[in-house]
Amino acid sequence: MAKKKKKKIKAGFEISLETTPFHVLFFAAYPLILLYMVNAKEMYAYLLIKPMFISILAASALYCAVLFMVKNALKAGFMTSVFIIWFFTYGHLYRSLEAPLKLTNHFVLFPMTMALAGAVIAFVARLRIKNTQTPEKINLILNYVAIGLVLFVTAAAILRMPEQGKIEPVKQLTETAAPSSADEKYPDIYYIIMDGHARSDYMKKTFNYDDSVFIDKMRSMGFYIPAKAKANYPETLLSFASFLNCDYLDKLIKLDPASDDRVVVKDQIKKKSALGYLKDKGYTVIIFPSINVTNAMKAGADYIMTPAALTFGEFEYMIFSTSVISAVSGFFHEGEPPAYQARRESIRYDFKYIPETAKMGSPKVVFAHIVCPHPPFVFDAQGGAVINTKPINFADGDHSDFSTEEYVEKYGAQARFIDDMTVKMVENLMKNMKKNSIIIIHGDHGSGSHLNWEDYTKTDFGERLSIFSAYYLPGGGDKLLYPGISPVNNFRLIQKFYFGEKINLLPDKSYFSKWDKPYDFIDVTKYTQ
Ligand SMILES: [Zn+2]
Repeated sequence: MAKKKKKKIKAGFEISLETTPFHVLFFAAYPLILLYMVNAKEMYAYLLIKPMFISILAASALYCAVLFMVKNALKAGFMTSVFIIWFFTYGHLYRSLEAPLKLTNHFVLFPMTMALAGAVIAFVARLRIKNTQTPEKINLILNYVAIGLVLFVTAAAILRMPEQGKIEPVKQLTETAAPSSADEKYPDIYYIIMDGHARSDYMKKTFNYDDSVFIDKMRSMGFYIPAKAKANYPETLLSFASFLNCDYLDKLIKLDPASDDRVVVKDQIKKKSALGYLKDKGYTVIIFPSINVTNAMKAGADYIMTPAALTFGEFEYMIFSTSVISAVSGFFHEGEPPAYQARRESIRYDFKYIPETAKMGSPKVVFAHIVCPHPPFVFDAQGGAVINTKPINFADGDHSDFSTEEYVEKYGAQARFIDDMTVKMVENLMKNMKKNSIIIIHGDHGSGSHLNWEDYTKTDFGERLSIFSAYYLPGGGDKLLYPGISPVNNFRLIQKFYFGEKINLLPDKSYFSKWDKPYDFIDVTKYTQ
């Protein structure tokens, strides 16, 4: 039966499910498709292409090398697949055993699993094969299992992919954009998000951090610091989509309160938005992206400012942190996955190079997303490294890796450092920038020490929706400011005052929604007063 299916290519060389270890390729693809499947609602499918290509290429190369050594296709295939499975499952295994076995580093699990995988590989390598029936049967089973897994997880991924068009864009800001006029003197705009930066009153009462030195310093440099600044939305994506498009989300897109499809919100960030408006006016768009959110904005940028390590995107980091790479790198950094070093490097890079952009041609808009003091916490109050050993997790509140007590302690410390860095950055920026430049710095939402994404009663709405904001608006623009301003009005204010657009500011509202129902909003404005 089986013999008939075989296709003879050349004498002694044939391709069939029994005799060819296709499973090597499928086992190399499976973990990546699985990772995509889990995150399908928050990432674009094309991001899978590059890591998939690299993984399959590396697996093929490894297979060829092993084949060269053992001179047996079935053996080489089996040995390669054992290695691939170990490589991709180690991070998951570590994470699932971490709590029950109270693991704090890789010094036990890593050598144990490596020895186990190595023993299996060595055993197979030394095996003398007398008849080929059993190896062929094993190869056939491995092929079926690997192909089955890939088919299953691919189908699941397709089912989870967001339905495009379920929520349709109904309005675009740029419809009102006026034609460009090169003669006008427009101000440079520096727009900096300090992700999750809490307001002064919450810094004090929640984190026991009196930030008055920082606030006074900012005021002395000419900033207006609204005492009751509030966010419009409790999470990054929603907040960005709203302030970049100068409106509340329910005015921008048709919202389905039952949906948790976040790709439609990412599409709002990808749109031309306020930055597109400025680009139409002749502005150069310079972006300091974050690895998670503002990647979506890269398409509209003229310059993307990022340290080399961050050419690896978010998805690659997820692959790293769930594979053997997390352990290998961990040995060199006290058990810390590489994504944390990249996080520190990225934050320091932004603070250093944002002032440098002042030297670039005008008019320009510099948009920076600094994912700090938001968790994970990687800096102490002096900027020293705080070591984390879990795979990196950018989730906030009860979805973060920190208990309330840890959060309160570590957020407060990280915020102190970030505030010091902010003062230095602004001082450097002001040395170089044009006199009529605008600087806006704000949190996209507040902190999340008392944030439960599933339970309103365990959430401090005031903490989550009260934000730090700082406005440097020369030429009289600051006259439009007031204590309770929210980000939805930031680009409206710029367009109204500096571009003479007939556009009004909106009422400042704060909304909360649960993680699983991001569009099922409740109005929590009163908690931010
Ligand atoms: Zn955020």
